[in-house]
Amino acid sequence: MHLVMIHPATYDNCRAAVERAFELFPQDLTGKKVVIKPNVLRASTADEHIVTHPAVLRAVVAAVEQRAPQEIVVGDNPGLFSYGDNESTFEKTGLMAAAGKYYRNLGDSPRPIAFLPELIPEVGVSREILDTDILISLPKFKSHGLTVMTGAIKNSYGILPGAQKARLHRMAGTPERFHELIVDVFRLRIPDLFILDAVVGMEGNGPASPDLREIGLVLAADNAVALDGVVARMMGLEPGRLRFLQKARELGLGDFDEQKISLDGELRIIPDFKVPPLGGEAIACNEAVQEIIKGRTRVRPAADPDLCTACGLCVEHCPVEAITMEADLPVADAETCITCFCCQEICPDKAMTLD
Ligand code: SF4
Ligand code: SF4
Repeated sequence: MHLVMIHPATYDNCRAAVERAFELFPQDLTGKKVVIKPNVLRASTADEHIVTHPAVLRAVVAAVEQRAPQEIVVGDNPGLFSYGDNESTFEKTGLMAAAGKYYRNLGDSPRPIAFLPELIPEVGVSREILDTDILISLPKFKSHGLTVMTGAIKNSYGILPGAQKARLHRMAGTPERFHELIVDVFRLRIPDLFILDAVVGMEGNGPASPDLREIGLVLAADNAVALDGVVARMMGLEPGRLRFLQKARELGLGDFDEQKISLDGELRIIPDFKVPPLGGEAIACNEAVQEIIKGRTRVRPAADPDLCTACGLCVEHCPVEAITMEADLPVADAETCITCFCCQEICPDKAMTLD
């Protein structure tokens, strides 16, 4: 049986909901490394509700601080549009101020990890995510044109730095396959606790829609399938119709069946909640978005000879050894490159450009 918390909250008082989440899903953080990962889709202001609200992050950081961890790290790899600009994305959203001294750029140190041999044998995953003792995921209550909703499982797609996200979007080919891929990424490092910002949610053509809904809740769980099942029901959706939830259940990652979930709080269906088509066509058929995705997957890093000092940092940090020095200029091999763009993040002279 899974437990899901549904707790009333505003952005002024969400600390109480976060404390309740830690009571219901106790985590021994003493002496541990803790990574907190909000959903940071792209540079935007907090009141656009495209990202996890800074008030929720601030409350979680305060709760973690009180539990004597050895180290706290806050970070994410912004989505298809903002990579290479991690700091300014965090600044603009207000998440940098909420993270304070714990902010870390997760994009500059991916580690290669085996993925799906038939599709893409290796992906680069942020080292901080792989090395942490405890991972706390802070998803946002939003609709999504390709996966119909975002939530706990989809938030883990951000463990991939750089253009890998765009590349997988493109390789998936169909919405259904993309649903499956996000579960494959989620399984690479399943978070220990999920605290979901549903104080203000997003409906319509998410994940960056202007249509917002006052919901007034924070949800939490230690199982993503159960939590996403509850979010789906609140949106008026039958969870079993969402391929990513079906696949997660098939893999034994949890259950969304009402009989398998007990609630701490009350589940209310939000009246007339606007969701994208269940088949996920909203993004798959949107030519402008598809052009951006295609463009991102074609991009490759190239060093600017006028700025490069030949320091070699990019060569050293490339997780798949795709870069070699040729006449004091780093050159990336397009076949080997996994488009994590760690070389661009790490370059102290901003010499690595994306061609
Ligand atoms: S890290 Fe930047 S400056 Fe150093 S070798 Fe690479 S591109 Fe050149
Ligand atoms: S060349 Fe740059 S973008 Fe490509 S894999 Fe290496 S670090 Fe990542």
